[in-house]
Amino acid sequence: MLVNKKKNTETQPSREQAEEAVRTLLAFIGEDTSRPGLLDTPARVVRAWEEWCDGYKEDASGLVSTFFEDIQGYDQPVVMRNINFVSHCEHHMASMPGTAHIAYWPDKKVVGISKLARVVDVFARRLQSQETMTKQIAEALHAGLSPKGVAVMIEAEHACMTTRGANKPDAHLATQFFTGCFKTDLHAQERITNLLKK
Ligand SMILES: [Zn+2]
Repeated sequence: MLVNKKKNTETQPSREQAEEAVRTLLAFIGEDTSRPGLLDTPARVVRAWEEWCDGYKEDASGLVSTFFEDIQGYDQPVVMRNINFVSHCEHHMASMPGTAHIAYWPDKKVVGISKLARVVDVFARRLQSQETMTKQIAEALHAGLSPKGVAVMIEAEHACMTTRGANKPDAHLATQFFTGCFKTDLHAQERITNLLKK
């Protein structure tokens, strides 16, 4: 299912309230919020989070609703590799930089290639678990393009465990999600997995 979370303007705190929350956090970690170096920090932090999470405003299904139908009988998978993104985990709001590789097997229509990359950002720029993000990207492409199948593989680093907690600096999490023929046909799945991993 496609989720396009819109901000609820009735329950959404004001910018001033959000900045106050940052000030509270600074005081909690032992900072003097009145020292000159920190005076503008709350406003900057709030603006940064608006940017890091601007995916809530975008509709992924709308992005892939414009496509090309004149593909002259092209009937093989389309693969886009190395789409870099920076997301944030929903458990710690810690940064989650990673790379997505996506593929779909068109059925009469293809989407502009920049749209593939933008679909990744719509979901990356929300608070996420990597597992959910992988599934949402695949389902958005499947719903928008009605292809024979979609395959999404994501590898990401989770700052919440590479810089604290478990403290494993080089650990990467790999997830994948298959729809349509890539889910049901193991031969197609093996073929696309090899292309995505290349
Ligand atoms: Zn986390």
